[in-house]
Amino acid sequence: MPSLFSSKTQRSPLLLAWLTALWLGTLCNWPLWKALLALPETGSPRGLLFMLAFAGIITGVLASILSLAAWRRVIKPVAALLLISAAAGAHFMGTYGVVIDDTMIVNVLQTDARETRDLLSLRMLVTLVLLAGLPAVYLWRTSLASLGFGRQLLRNLVGVLLGLALAVALLMACFADMASTMRNHKSLRYLINPLNSYYALGQVAFKKSSKPRGPPQIVAADAMLAARPDGRKPPLLLLVVGETARAMNFSLNGYARATNPELAKLDVLSFRDVTSCGTSTAASLPCMFSHLGREQYGNSKDVHQENLLDALQRAGLAVLWLDNQSGCKGICERVPNAMAHIAASGAPTLPEALCNGPECLDGALLHGLDQRLEALPAERRAKGVVLVLHQMGSHGPAYYKRSPADLKPFQPECKTNVLQQCDPQQLVNAYDNSIVYADHVLAQAIAWLQQKTSGFDPTLLYLSDHGESLGENNLYLHGMPYAFAPREQTHIPMVLWLPGTGSAIDRGCMRAKIEQPLSHDHLFHSVLGLLGVQASIYKADRDFFAGCKQGQ
Ligand SMILES: [Zn+2]
Repeated sequence: MPSLFSSKTQRSPLLLAWLTALWLGTLCNWPLWKALLALPETGSPRGLLFMLAFAGIITGVLASILSLAAWRRVIKPVAALLLISAAAGAHFMGTYGVVIDDTMIVNVLQTDARETRDLLSLRMLVTLVLLAGLPAVYLWRTSLASLGFGRQLLRNLVGVLLGLALAVALLMACFADMASTMRNHKSLRYLINPLNSYYALGQVAFKKSSKPRGPPQIVAADAMLAARPDGRKPPLLLLVVGETARAMNFSLNGYARATNPELAKLDVLSFRDVTSCGTSTAASLPCMFSHLGREQYGNSKDVHQENLLDALQRAGLAVLWLDNQSGCKGICERVPNAMAHIAASGAPTLPEALCNGPECLDGALLHGLDQRLEALPAERRAKGVVLVLHQMGSHGPAYYKRSPADLKPFQPECKTNVLQQCDPQQLVNAYDNSIVYADHVLAQAIAWLQQKTSGFDPTLLYLSDHGESLGENNLYLHGMPYAFAPREQTHIPMVLWLPGTGSAIDRGCMRAKIEQPLSHDHLFHSVLGLLGVQASIYKADRDFFAGCKQGQ
């Protein structure tokens, strides 16, 4: 009886392609399985099923690719190349705990002979023999049948389609687990062997030769402050950049739960129809501070340009970026900036209730704000001040960490970052508690601004960077490509507070605009308009304060 391991029978090149794919998709990915097994997500039968499906998806994709090469004279060298690269990749990932991305490939390509010798080891030899040598021997001993061009082409196309169908079917079956696991553990994607190596190689090969980044292109070179009318105090804008807050969970916007108990008492204006520029912090932040707007910004990402903060500073205003997150994504490079977990000089130390090491609740942004304000240059302060507070907000997946123990009205809370294992209601509870805390911080910020009315004309403008999926359609977190992003990820809250008297802006006029469709595209021009900064780049049709300035 002819067996799979007999070297006498002639095999189809397509069978060889699929066997190679199976070997690569399962055994050669042991560093991925090891990493997955170490996660809390896989500690259940469902987790193990997910891993099996994951192996099936990788095998399907590889089988599809290898089916293209399933020709009598082609399949053996192609399969051997993939086996050797996969075995080498598995060795380095498994031994050194590295992942293979474009930076790693650049490192490998720049490695010299001495470094290479240092990396070679007996262990590497064993891995290469087991993962590449054994199947390569089988490959070489197998004789291949010739089917004729037409029949082989037909079979190979069926092989390509079957591989894709397998991958897509399994992906659909485990989509919730896959989406959430890959979002929570982004580096896993760089363990998918050997696709990671070839993907990174492609990235390196096609990447434009990166030119040294000189100074940014100047934006609003002619920015200057309009003369302030007699009696009008200098403006003080608190621009609060929220994180992962979605408009539909604000009771100010009609949400059934009381998530805005404090702002509801403060006569703020909540804009109902505001859209973000991106679905992630890295995409939204640079875009919302740019004068370009989403469409134009998307087409000119490589342009190194100044932003709103540069324009404000050039006009003579005092600007400070205060961060309680992972940084400002380059926006605050040329203006004064500080991290919230490092107390302002002259301010009391941050209380333990607010900060656990560098990880702080957003209340830390307001701690010592007087001292931070006073530290800004006096001549600029006299013209006006812009303080940007970049919140931690509702940053997931650990929503329960975004509110203090004494401000968690919605119980019980989901207390894990493995969102798909959470009870859906508990997940929403944890998220809504983070919104209640954001509401509290904004109310405190307004209380601070109210103390400043003797010297300034204060305004608070809060808007989030993007929204969030909380399990709707099996989607969690954010970062979906914009074209496919659900509304939950792009519909953001925007809240405006103006003092009762003395504001440069007519409140009633702004109230009439709360249902108007607005977006991050309006931020640059609206802030220029609000603060009386004149520049030729300013567009009145993107200024939501236009027509609402007192005395206009
Ligand atoms: Zn964000």
